[in-house]
Amino acid sequence: MPENQQQEAPQLDEMGFELPGPSTHVKHMIGVVSGKGGVGKSLVTSLIAVQARKQGNEVGIFDGDITGPSIPKSFGLTGPVRANPMGILPVSSKTGIHVMSTNFLLPNEDDPVIWRGPVIAGVVKQFWQEVVWGDLDYMLIDMPPGTGDVPLTVFQSLPIDGIVIVTSPQELVSMIVRKAVKMADNMGVPVLGLVENYSYFECPNCHEQHKLFGESHVDEVAEQYHIDLVAKIPIDPAIAAAVDKGQVEDVDSPQIDEFVTKLSEKVATLPKRKSPFLIAQERQAAELDARLDAAGIPKIDKSKQE
Ligand code: ADP
Ligand code: MG
Repeated sequence: MPENQQQEAPQLDEMGFELPGPSTHVKHMIGVVSGKGGVGKSLVTSLIAVQARKQGNEVGIFDGDITGPSIPKSFGLTGPVRANPMGILPVSSKTGIHVMSTNFLLPNEDDPVIWRGPVIAGVVKQFWQEVVWGDLDYMLIDMPPGTGDVPLTVFQSLPIDGIVIVTSPQELVSMIVRKAVKMADNMGVPVLGLVENYSYFECPNCHEQHKLFGESHVDEVAEQYHIDLVAKIPIDPAIAAAVDKGQVEDVDSPQIDEFVTKLSEKVATLPKRKSPFLIAQERQAAELDARLDAAGIPKIDKSKQE
């Protein structure tokens, strides 16, 4: 598409990430990923947001599952979104969590989203640049499952601090974690924690915990990859019912609450991330300098270049 190639160069910050709109200031940006759909990634995104909000933070949810958005439904939110001269306004939940999702942009919330990769990547950037997020302590990004266009765009272009990986006991946890860790490594994104969902079912009568999917190997996997296992969430009909009714803000998760308590400290200890784009550019420049050095050619003074 020739028009696309003539687009203006994006505005980048000093670390090589795309700048948001002028009224958006995000302290911590965290992505939630999984190997496949249905493991509870959107639930975990919502629970982290809910607990962070309960702890008094300003929180936004960027529904990055562009083609399979489910965040609005779990918070009981509907569009359409409004806009002001600054940009598009997120929709606020009952406890004041700011949400942006493709669901709010569709004429019908049941309409399928059948956009292709470049359009999807464009929506991700629009959500970052054109939404008036305001001042947020936390922005949670609910990523689609796997390692497609959205995670790639988010990791390359947005100043994400780290990711949380969600798995379930039915999965090949070791392979999924390995893939996620590899992608995160390639993109220089730290893994902040691992969450196992559907870990067990607690009998409401005898309170015994039943491992419906057998013993999981999540503890060993977490240890093997030096990742914190931050929560084991049970299968709980009350959770399913709350999500169905758009009342996920009524769900309490003590383990996620504890994770959120430690999160700001944890994120503060991380080195500031550079974009993969900037890293590649710096590496090329260093290689060129080394080659010029080896050949005895004086370096080009970049400041005098046109
Ligand atoms: P994903 O985003 O990974 O596709 P969701 O978070 O949408 O998965 O979860 C899939 C469905 O399972 C949702 O309807 C959700 O309410 C339900 N669910 C998720 N986790 C639990 C749980 N621990 N107990 C009961 N229901 C759950
Ligand atoms: Mg989801």
